[in-house]
This record gives sequence, C-alpha cells and structure tokens, in this order.
Amino acid sequence: MEKSLISVVVPCYNEEKALPHFIDEIKKVLASMDGVTGEVIFVNDGSRDGTLSMIRDFSQQYPWVRYISFSRNFGKEGAILAGLSSAKGEWAAVMDADLQDPPALLPEMLKAIREEGYECVGTCRKTRKGEPPIRSFFARCFYRFINCMSETQLMDGARDYKLLSRPAIDALVSMPEVNRFSKGLYEWIGFRTKWIAFENVERVAGETKWSFWKLFKYSIEGILSFSTVPLVLSTVLGLLFMLASLVSIIALSVRQYIYHSSVDGWTSMVCIILLLSGVQLFCLGLLGQYMAKMYTEIKRRPHYIVSESSK
Ligand code: UDP
Ligand code: MG
Repeated sequence: MEKSLISVVVPCYNEEKALPHFIDEIKKVLASMDGVTGEVIFVNDGSRDGTLSMIRDFSQQYPWVRYISFSRNFGKEGAILAGLSSAKGEWAAVMDADLQDPPALLPEMLKAIREEGYECVGTCRKTRKGEPPIRSFFARCFYRFINCMSETQLMDGARDYKLLSRPAIDALVSMPEVNRFSKGLYEWIGFRTKWIAFENVERVAGETKWSFWKLFKYSIEGILSFSTVPLVLSTVLGLLFMLASLVSIIALSVRQYIYHSSVDGWTSMVCIILLLSGVQLFCLGLLGQYMAKMYTEIKRRPHYIVSESSK
C-alpha cells in the first residue's frame, strides 16, 4: 500500500541559528511515524543571514526537503500561504523553525485526524509562562476585545502550529485576501478541530521577530480584518453625542427663556468642542483604516514574489 504524504511547512526569517536543530528534530519525528512519508517545505521569507544557503543545502542533502525563497520579507502570513499552496500532502502542518512548536507533537496530531475523525488540529499554550507580563496582559486584552467584536472567535493562547487535512488546506489557499490574519482565517474556515495544549517552550536559538510594535500592528490587522463593529460603534457614538447636544440645546433655551441667564461657561464650551472634534477625528481615522484595507485589497498585488525555489 502506498504511504500517505504529510507536508510540513516552515516559514523562516533569519533562522540560521535554529535551523540545524530543527532539521535534526523533524528528521527524527518523521522517521518515527509509521505509515506516512513526510516532506518539509522551507519558505525563506527574505532572510538576511545564511538561511537561504542552509535550506538549499538541506534540499540537496535530503530528497524530502523542498524550499521556496521570497525576493524580500513579505511576512509570516505570505510564507504560510506559499508553503500551503505548494504542499502536496494529504495533510499539512505549519510550524515555526525555532522548535517552539514541538515537532514531537506531530504523531499525536495526526492520530486525531486519522483515527478520531477530526479535520484540523490546533495547538495552544497551557500558560503564558516565560512571557513578559506586560505582553501577556495586552494579549489577553486583545483576545477579549476581538471576541466581543467579531463573530469569528479566537482562542486565547492559540499558536499558529496547526495540522490541516486536504479540504482545509484547499479552503485556506482559496481565500484571496491580501490582508491575511491567519489566526482568524483558521477559525473562519471552520472544520472539526481538536485542540491540544502544551507547555510554553523557549526558542531554541536566535531571536523573536516580533517586537511589541509589530504585535500591536498585527492585532489591529486582526480586528480590522474580522470585524466591522468599530464602524457601527462610531455611528452609535455619533448618535449619542447628537442626542446629548439636543438635550442641552433644549435645556439651555429653556433656561434663557425663563431665567434670562445666558451661558457663561467658556471653559465648558471649549471642552465640548475639543471632545467632539476628537471623536470626529477618531471616527474619520477609523473609516480611513478600512478604506486603506480596501485599497490594498483592490490593487490585487500578489501575496509574495518567489525569487528561487527547489526543483
Ligand atoms: N517569520 C517569518 N517572517 C517574518 C517573521 C517571522 O517567516 O516576517 C517566521 C520565523 O522565522 C519563525 C516564525 O515565523 O519560524 C515565528 O516567528 P518568531 O519565532 O520570531 O515568533 P514568536 O514565536 O516569538 O511569536
Ligand atoms: Mg518563535
């Protein structure tokens, strides 16, 4: 009987320090899995270190390694898309190159699909141990916020480490949007998903590519891609302020009419003008954000540009 193929997609950005550890580990894990053959697809996301030459060597050394290399850094989302598009397997796993997504979980994940009837397997962290407390705090706020505002519910602590069956891979690849927030896309496509929790693991070597600012921008991306509630909010806010001003106009007119005392509160006036113009600018900015997203979508630029690939 022919063995089924499992593809492992690995986005890499400046990972020359972690990759030697990764290849050893994944080789062991794939060899230990009965009844399946594996292929590993490294996607070099415009690294500036020796990542490309390293994965080139791997692909020459091992017949089960392929690679795709981008012309510049397009971001992890583009790298995941490129890897999944070229995956030939019946299943595909997406995992980081730094061993923070333990390859050793793969047999258990595959079992859930092959024997327990699931179509996807997601992973999440048991705790946020080892993460700066301030980062955990903002992450928690983000998940609470986005889950209030969007119909697509995200799991707090979910990692991008996933195992997908063919229908799920095809569904993800078929989504044409340029602004890709894959945490949301994974949830949006649905499919029966099993969640496996594991302890947070420290990066094996090298540094994280996510600064606080990059994470902040990523979370805004998530909210704008998966919710239009902010637009409704700004309308509601506008209505409330209109109502408030109507009430005060009536109250002030009555006061003038009955007591003949006009308003002498210059300060309060300025405060109100400031508040209202602030709200207006905020809402305008909000509109602008959505328009900017639409602008990048309708340009229909490719998600990434490949400068080199194996075979
Ligand atoms: N990565 C990428 N492009 C980027 C940033 C990151 O392909 O622009 C890859 C990176 O090489 C790693 C994975 O995405 O395999 C996760 O990145 P990292 O470990 O820095 O993130 P963290 O685990 O700290 O959230
Ligand atoms: Mg990492």
